[in-house]
Amino acid sequence: MNHAELVKNAGVVGAGGAGFPTHAKIGARVDVVLANGAECEPLLHSDQFVMLDRAEQILDGLRTVMETTGAKRGVVCIKEKNTRGAKELEKHLTKNVSILALGDFYPAGDEHILTFEATGKITPEGGLPIDVGVLVQNVTTLANVARALKGEAVTSKVVTVGGEVAKPGVHVIPVGTPLSDVIAACGGPIRDDGVALLNGPMMGRLVEPSKEVVTKTTGGLFLLPRDNPLAQRLSRPLSADIRLSRGACEQCRYCTDFCPRYLQGHSLKPHMIMRVMNEQREPEVETVTDSFLCCECGVCDLFACPLSLSPRRFYREFKASLSARKIWLRKRNKKCEADLYREHRRVPKGKLTRRIGVSGYDLAPEFHGKEWDVDAVEIPLSMHIGVAAEPVVRIGDKVGRGTVVGKIASGKLGADVHASIAGVVTKINGRIRIERRGA
Ligand code: SF4
Ligand code: SF4
Repeated sequence: MNHAELVKNAGVVGAGGAGFPTHAKIGARVDVVLANGAECEPLLHSDQFVMLDRAEQILDGLRTVMETTGAKRGVVCIKEKNTRGAKELEKHLTKNVSILALGDFYPAGDEHILTFEATGKITPEGGLPIDVGVLVQNVTTLANVARALKGEAVTSKVVTVGGEVAKPGVHVIPVGTPLSDVIAACGGPIRDDGVALLNGPMMGRLVEPSKEVVTKTTGGLFLLPRDNPLAQRLSRPLSADIRLSRGACEQCRYCTDFCPRYLQGHSLKPHMIMRVMNEQREPEVETVTDSFLCCECGVCDLFACPLSLSPRRFYREFKASLSARKIWLRKRNKKCEADLYREHRRVPKGKLTRRIGVSGYDLAPEFHGKEWDVDAVEIPLSMHIGVAAEPVVRIGDKVGRGTVVGKIASGKLGADVHASIAGVVTKINGRIRIERRGA
């Protein structure tokens, strides 16, 4: 079996983003592979833990992907402030692999931004770093690639738990563990009026913990008071965002001037989408299709706009509406040039954390390396890009940790899913419930 097949069988997906199936990415031909350890989202410390605990696996995974892609060079991209992680990684470097120290700015870990920082190359509009010979893989994904080569499936995730929770920390949690159980195991909420934020303040979303579970892409879970400014922003209905923007947007352009994708030379101009919303006129086609250039980093609304308006939200709505009509942005061959002021308009992470009202939760959390023992999990059949896996077990089946419980149909893009604990299958309904009893 070749490397890509082993990675596919282990159900490895991009751990730091939307969960693109890794086996489908590592067949590309590129010049350089970037291990993304930037972890730029405020409050998250999960990848930092992985770099301390699994440095050798990360480097093994990186060399494996360099081999499958034909890349001559590998670069581990890590924040310069993460000196402990760098020390661990340095122990396992080889001559074709180096470390790039990044400044503490947001969004250093965006794959376009990382590509530019590491190679000086600009990803084309509507394209991917692969188009300029670069493959970006999150450090946790690379550690999972190394484990896959030894036959180990992805069954757990390193998650930062913080905010208004009694015992904040970084934990190794079986995939499928309900978020409400995660909060309870971390001592429960400190206050009753909290809301739960999944995956981080900039790109995360508010969730109902009793309805969601840890997946292969979960990075963090935070409780915020309901009156926290960020919690209020994220709870604002679309109608309120539209009303506010019509009354308040002064077309100052700060949202555009700080947009990281605009600054790397893409034609995205968030103040223009605000003009469309505010003037309620027929927009130029390009202003709307440019929505696909937005990576939803949140710099425009949570950092740049003096009036807390949200071009990101409108881009997201336009993207959803165009995608529903099967309209996508095709790669453009336009020559892009980085903005002269790009270097000076990077968003310092400390300032960002203060501005969004979460600096009080920015603690150095305790790392807990031992994987949790949980009594029951509900493993989603879809926690990746592509089609959902099809169940290959029945109610009453006994499974071991790592048993395949859902498989992707042949020829389809997706990822297999595996039992994260040993036990008995008790329910199949979009998720596979496994209970430890009788195992
Ligand atoms: S959305 Fe905010 S930053 Fe952008 S142009 Fe309007 S007021 Fe200025
Ligand atoms: S969310 Fe805003 S700042 Fe970020 S890429 Fe989109 S438009 Fe630019």
